[in-house]
Amino acid sequence: MSTYFSHLECSVPCGAGPANPRTVQHLCACGAPLLARYDLDAARGWTRESLAGRTASMWRYRELMPLLDDETPVTLGEGWTPLVPATRLGAALGLSRLYLKDESLNPTNSFKARGLSAAVTRAHYLGARVLSIPTAGNAGNAMAAYAAHAGLEARVFMPRDVKTPFVRECELYGADVTLVDGLITDAGRIAAETGAPLGWYDLSTLKEPYRIEGKKTMGYEVAEQLDWELPDWIIYPTGGGTGMVGMWKAFEEMSALGWIDPVKRPRMVTVQATGCAPIIRAFDNGDERATPWEHAQTVADGLRVPRAIGDFLVLRAVRESDGAAVAVSDEDMVQGMLDIGKFEGVSAAPEGGAALHALRTLITSGRVGPEDRVVIFNTGGALKYLDVLEGL
Ligand SMILES: *Cc1c(COP(=O)(O)O)cnc(C)c1O
Repeated sequence: MSTYFSHLECSVPCGAGPANPRTVQHLCACGAPLLARYDLDAARGWTRESLAGRTASMWRYRELMPLLDDETPVTLGEGWTPLVPATRLGAALGLSRLYLKDESLNPTNSFKARGLSAAVTRAHYLGARVLSIPTAGNAGNAMAAYAAHAGLEARVFMPRDVKTPFVRECELYGADVTLVDGLITDAGRIAAETGAPLGWYDLSTLKEPYRIEGKKTMGYEVAEQLDWELPDWIIYPTGGGTGMVGMWKAFEEMSALGWIDPVKRPRMVTVQATGCAPIIRAFDNGDERATPWEHAQTVADGLRVPRAIGDFLVLRAVRESDGAAVAVSDEDMVQGMLDIGKFEGVSAAPEGGAALHALRTLITSGRVGPEDRVVIFNTGGALKYLDVLEGL
């Protein structure tokens, strides 16, 4: 069964023509990310009722996924994660309709599996042999797993001070790991310098157009799991920003398909760490782009991203949705992890704990009310981060 995938387009858009998805594509000539586009007019014949009984993975939305011809995706069963009614946590916060989207149950323990399943699928189709990725941790684990599953070689570049389980898990899947002095941005530079002359396929966030397509399925799932009525708030920890940008894209697509109310969108809340908050700062300053954060430091590895190539897309989604931008301290995010664990029995990464604390802030300031429907994203599980709980 073929899909409605048609072409790639600049995200700015800068006016460049459509790019061909049958050849390797990274950034637009203008330097901005490319986005996958679909023939949405033709896709209007695809109904949400047809989803009943489909596979319990993100590929249930395959008509609007970047697949060509009758291609089979590279999959480990990612997506279709539970939307847990957080009743006890909600009661403690004074909210009657709080949900936790539990992304820790994905392969390799984080939502990064979605993006890498989609991106490795494309790389495989396009004939790549060696894949490379700069990562703060989880993306490298996911890439290594999907590369192994597809029979491709994986080269992972990550900060030297990353928590040990991230390194070991890459090795478990047979990836070659290079530890780099500095942060994910330094890893990105070294990965590109090393890989370009060797023809490696670069899977950096938003530098290839397909990770975002995997991540957008979180938006489809939240809609389907809430019977096509989107929540009032989505609270999402942001590093590179593909989660936010992907979900915002999903809402546009579903609206064009006639699947959701064309006007009512969730308010999108972007959450970062006080020790690395370039997007929050840009939001507060009214800037369209973020300036790089100096000396980025936080226990939430996924949020240690001092500069994001898609920053303007995140800022656009937050502003268009009348959302909010909240920075959370390491101490508060660890407390958030513990609360998610204690009240709901869900294993949360510090990033998930950060989303919970951001919600507290919005309740205190009166922006989120007791009847609001709220979804907080637990983007990963606690297991790779357990050292942050030592000595508490
Ligand atoms: C990567 C990561 C994030 C940030 O996601 P982006 O899409 O890069 O903004 C949040 N939480 C966890 C657990 C991550 O691994």
